[in-house]
Amino acid sequence: MPGRDEILQQVAETLLGARSVAICAHVDPDGDAMGSTLGLTHLLRDCGVAVVPLLASGDHAPATYAFLPGASELQAASSAPAVDVFVALDAPDPVRLGGGEERAREAHTLIVIDHHPDNKRFGDINLVDEHAAATGELLWELLPYLDCSADTTTASCLFTAIMTDTGRFSYGNTSPAALRHAAEMIEAGANVSDLYRRVYENRSPGALALVARTLDRLTFANGGQIAYSWIDEADFAETGALPEETENLIDEIRVVSGVETVALLKASSDSVRVSLRAKNGYDVGLVARTLGGGGHAAAAGFTRAGSLDAVLGELLPLLSSVS
Ligand code: AMP
Ligand code: MN
Ligand code: MN
Repeated sequence: MPGRDEILQQVAETLLGARSVAICAHVDPDGDAMGSTLGLTHLLRDCGVAVVPLLASGDHAPATYAFLPGASELQAASSAPAVDVFVALDAPDPVRLGGGEERAREAHTLIVIDHHPDNKRFGDINLVDEHAAATGELLWELLPYLDCSADTTTASCLFTAIMTDTGRFSYGNTSPAALRHAAEMIEAGANVSDLYRRVYENRSPGALALVARTLDRLTFANGGQIAYSWIDEADFAETGALPEETENLIDEIRVVSGVETVALLKASSDSVRVSLRAKNGYDVGLVARTLGGGGHAAAAGFTRAGSLDAVLGELLPLLSSVS
């Protein structure tokens, strides 16, 4: 297997020699997905490469990340033209590329850059490191190989990726390397307080009403080691909150003392999307994979057909077994 240095070199050479590049992260994009997509887009354009930034789902950036430079250029992957090189970011499995899955298959070369431990290495070139705090951190490491320096725009996008995936530099993945890379991004022009405010202090009143409902329904199981809550479609209609405003909702219920694992269930008419978090080294990724999803040990998720009660019935015994 080629070493990391060789892979980074291979990724850089392939990108710099590409006739056209498409960049796409996972469906329901989070801060790492958006920051990484737009950061790499900007970086490659600076190097003279023709790039189209794509969305695996939807046709516009989530409201939270619409401020990132280049966000207005994002287009739906499903209707994007074929390209020479396709870069899959923050996606452990081609299915997570949603509308981009087919585009990835059609491309001459597929590059996978990711930090999920369950990454299937489905690319022609795979830059995968589960110890990276965010995919954006791996892109930062690519800089010297592209032989260009980051400007404020690239630094801001990639800082957003690390800031969000580390839970504002608080989760267990906040490594010395992540902090060092973040510091370099600040030196390159990322404005910490501005980015923090735009991502975390820009919520709608409806989103806060959704927090209130989530807290109101907080339930404990397994002697207080598990905390869970739920929201459904009526909550969005009644509060006016947007689905993308739920990205950090689970953080509101993980703060309770003694809680080891946390679940937030988002129910629609025939399925439930579940977010899972573990606080002290428990592996909720295992639970998510058992129920058809995936993710990291400390942050994982899955979508399951069925009612809220049915999914809870499957989930709670599994969570108890790891908590
Ligand atoms: P979320 O709870 O949506 O913030 O997701 C947390 C983590 O779980 C992320 O790393 C996702 O990539 C992963 N994840 C969430 N939903 C799924 C899913 N349906 N399939 C695979 N991985 C998922
Ligand atoms: Mn992600
Ligand atoms: Mn990530």
